[in-house]
Order: sequence, then structure tokens, then C-alpha cells
Amino acid sequence: MAVISDTPILGRQCGQCSMCCKLMEIKELQKPGGSWCRHVSKGSGCSIYRDRPPSCAAFGCGYLHWPMAGDHWFPARCKMVIVAENDTRMAIHVDPSMPNVWKSEPYYSDLKTWARHASRNPGQQLVVTVAGRMFVILPDKDVDMGIVSEDEIVLSGQMADGSYMAIKVRTDDLGIERLANGGYRVR
Ligand code: SF4
Ligand code: SF4
Repeated sequence: MAVISDTPILGRQCGQCSMCCKLMEIKELQKPGGSWCRHVSKGSGCSIYRDRPPSCAAFGCGYLHWPMAGDHWFPARCKMVIVAENDTRMAIHVDPSMPNVWKSEPYYSDLKTWARHASRNPGQQLVVTVAGRMFVILPDKDVDMGIVSEDEIVLSGQMADGSYMAIKVRTDDLGIERLANGGYRVR
């Protein structure tokens, strides 16, 4: 999968969009994903922009920075926000008011294309999250992982018969240690 660029794609800007301020969890504000931030000023963006939390300042929007996402991924229109969560996972956060929009076209075909790209790079994952529920998007299926808690990780990959799998495991069970880059290793 392509790496998110630091430079915004020419011609793309936030405009009237504030979808990240609804769909993303902001831990510093105890704001859950999927509900509007109390600091959003509709039409003019963040009302505390200069003092916004670090996670807001560091946010990298896939629509603005990821060339594989076409113009139809403008979050205000599609109601989804693309985020590179770490070095290994690309996540599509879906507005809970339109929970099935990711299954509609042209989005679903894009997801399957990106899933095929991810599958060629061991450890890479493409996931969709809707109201805290995670779906792993694989080339041949989508796997509903339910709610994935802080002490769980999702492993996915290709089987010997060519099919794909995704499972959720507790880090304690396998002696898995999380790494700072979002990856993991077996202790
Ligand atoms: S979701 Fe992306 S385009 Fe929309 S306001 Fe946030 S950063 Fe800008
Ligand atoms: S603090 Fe500002 S940038 Fe961060 S979620 Fe709220 S409105 Fe958006």
C-alpha cells in the first residue's frame, strides 16, 4: 500500500469539511469516535485551533495526503475518513449515521483494490471501523472482528491454500508485545 505523503495533494483542501472532528476519537478530550467534538464551529472548523490537542494537530487525512484515494473520497461527501493509523494499518472510519456506505460503489471497489495491495506486503492491513466495530478488508472477504479492545490485536494474512484469514487475539495469550510503530512482536 502507498505511504501517506507529508505534502497535501494539489487541489485538495478541507473546505467546509469537519468529518475528522466527528469520526475520530480524541483521547485528550475524552471524545469518542463517531460523535461531534464540542469545539467544532460548523462552517468555520475548529474553534480552538491554536490550542487544539496534539492528536488533532498530528492528524493526517488520507483524502488530503494519500494519492490512492480519488476525489470521491472527500470526507464531507462520502462520510468516511481515511487514516494511516500506524506503519501497518490503513483505517477507514465510517460515519455511524451511514454505517453501510463503505459497501457502496465506487468505494467498495477501491477497498478491494487497496486490500489486494495490502496483501502483497506482509503485516499490512486495511480495516473499516463503524461505531467502534472493526471489519478487516481482505481480497476475498470482509471479516467482522466486532469491538477490538486495547489489549487485543488483529492478525491477518494469506493461508497456504491461497485464501485469507483474520483473527483477533489477546496480547497476553500469545506473549505479543506492541511496538511504538503500531506493529508487534512475539516475546
Ligand atoms: S476529514 Fe480531512 S478533509 Fe475533512 S476536515 Fe478533516 S482533514 Fe480536512
Ligand atoms: S479540538 Fe478542534 S480539531 Fe480537534 S476534534 Fe475538536 S474541533 Fe476538531
